[in-house]
Amino acid sequence: MVKFLPPGTGPRCPLCGERINGWDSVAEQIETTSAFPVPDPNWSYTDRRGHIHMYWELPPHYATMEWVVDLAAWMDLPEEGHYECKACRETIVPGMIGPSPFRTFIPGMRTITYRPCGHEAPNNLSPIRWRADAL
Ligand SMILES: [Zn+2]
Ligand SMILES: [Zn+2]
Repeated sequence: MVKFLPPGTGPRCPLCGERINGWDSVAEQIETTSAFPVPDPNWSYTDRRGHIHMYWELPPHYATMEWVVDLAAWMDLPEEGHYECKACRETIVPGMIGPSPFRTFIPGMRTITYRPCGHEAPNNLSPIRWRADAL
């Protein structure tokens, strides 16, 4: 993103004294893509006896199902098990999504670079903010 001030109105760069007529603002992108499958919030399933199962937003997420342990956790191996319908004991495999085929990001640290000299702004102050602080 590039911003420009009217010509001749910019403050001077504190590092080199050149008049600033604009700046680049670049935000670091932090990747939030999940590497593991997560429960599908839109999943629902009707078992053979007609019991409806779905993912609930609030815990317990699978209110109609019970987690049955097949193999207890041992050393650093996680517990293994499966879900069963609480009413008829049918084995249910909850719907999962992902890992996402799309990479997702959130903006992180912002860096402001003065133009035209290219110096990095001290404390990421935009020239406008910096000038307002100096008044
Ligand atoms: Zn400079
Ligand atoms: Zn059932």
